[in-house]
Amino acid sequence: AAELDPVDLYNVRAMLSEEERLVQDSVAKFVDEQVIPIMGDCFEHERFPRELVTGVAELGLLGSSIHGYGCAGLNGVSYGLICQELERGDSGLRSFVSVQSSLCMYPIYAFGSEEQKQRWLPSMAKGETIACFGLTEPHGGSDPANMKTHAKRQGKDWVLNGAKMWITNAPIADVAVVWARTDDGIRGFLVEKGFKGFTTATIKHKMSLRASLTGSLFFDNVVVPEANMLPGVVGLKGPLSCLTQARYGICWGVTGAAQACLKDVIDYTKTRILFGKPLAATQAIQIRLAEMARKITTSQLLSLQLGRLKDQGLMQPTQVSVAKWHNARAAIEVARDARDVLGGAGISVEYSPIRHALNLESVITYEGTETVHQLTVGRALTGINAF
Ligand code: FAD
Repeated sequence: AAELDPVDLYNVRAMLSEEERLVQDSVAKFVDEQVIPIMGDCFEHERFPRELVTGVAELGLLGSSIHGYGCAGLNGVSYGLICQELERGDSGLRSFVSVQSSLCMYPIYAFGSEEQKQRWLPSMAKGETIACFGLTEPHGGSDPANMKTHAKRQGKDWVLNGAKMWITNAPIADVAVVWARTDDGIRGFLVEKGFKGFTTATIKHKMSLRASLTGSLFFDNVVVPEANMLPGVVGLKGPLSCLTQARYGICWGVTGAAQACLKDVIDYTKTRILFGKPLAATQAIQIRLAEMARKITTSQLLSLQLGRLKDQGLMQPTQVSVAKWHNARAAIEVARDARDVLGGAGISVEYSPIRHALNLESVITYEGTETVHQLTVGRALTGINAF
């Protein structure tokens, strides 16, 4: 029998097109050479590796699904593979790309005016303009309909007041895509760094996603010109449609983190000799490794089918909820168990599992907590909204 890849037991790779494989290989090479060697240090020192942004942009990973405007125009499966390979490096770097691509470039592309697209998308694709997405507010992210941030008409302009919390990239963003209540419903605004009354603060003391910058946004009578309002959408479906795109990428991404952990522990248990034999020669350890591979395999198949549905225009948010919930839960279980298999060494950032496990604590919470996704699936099954 042909040799199996421990982190791809069902040979998902064989189901990819040649172009998809090329994308995966180019990102994998970048991650192996430039990301993995520095990530432990970035995590330990709470540093976002900004020096990687140019390389990420040159590979076409920012707004990769967008056609035109200097973007790569790749399909959904390729975007998934990009997320998977980046998160094999670190969830923080993948978060940066998810936010820039799915939460910021996507709404400008989908709901922006032609002028807004021309102005923002090419420089965002190059990584010259960094963006953040402000939906969550301090009083509760799971219930975005209860939004307090609001924008009021003032002549042709808008005046924005309120606050957003837990915003990825906020401390370095040149522009924030901000969702606010208006008299006609929720609308999106492009709030530029330097607008009077717009300030940000970095959230410190995070024990998770330490290589990603997270912050708050404050709006104190910020005047936003009409030209900075996204004209193409009104209502919560605006931000929710961005989240569907980003969550889709997360379904793939988390599996990359789990693959990194499994690889680390397979290597480790083969050379760790206890009671006169390698750890990998014990039944208990083999069962644990097999469990990890099972979780990775089921996650990969969910992601691939989800990606094929996406590329056929058939993907539904409930399907994304199943995969986000399943794959994030599977990945955090793999990472935590891998941490344990490493023994004392497992608590050091010298090995990746503790970093991935801690990062995944954010990933299982953001973009809809596990409970929120479970309730979304429950609602689809019963027709009853139990939130
Ligand atoms: P809450 O909504 O207060 O939830 C608390 C708990 O209650 C959770 O366990 C939840 O599952 C549970 N719960 C909620 N509703 C119910 C219910 N009906 N029944 C039972 N249990 C329930 N947001 C952005 O807008 N942009 C970003 O870029 C961004 N980046 C982030 C980066 C990081 C590192 C983190 C940690 C968060 C980020 N978020 C971002 C915010 C994230 O989306 C929210 O944290 C998330 O939606 C949960 O909201 P909350 O923290 O207010 O928790």
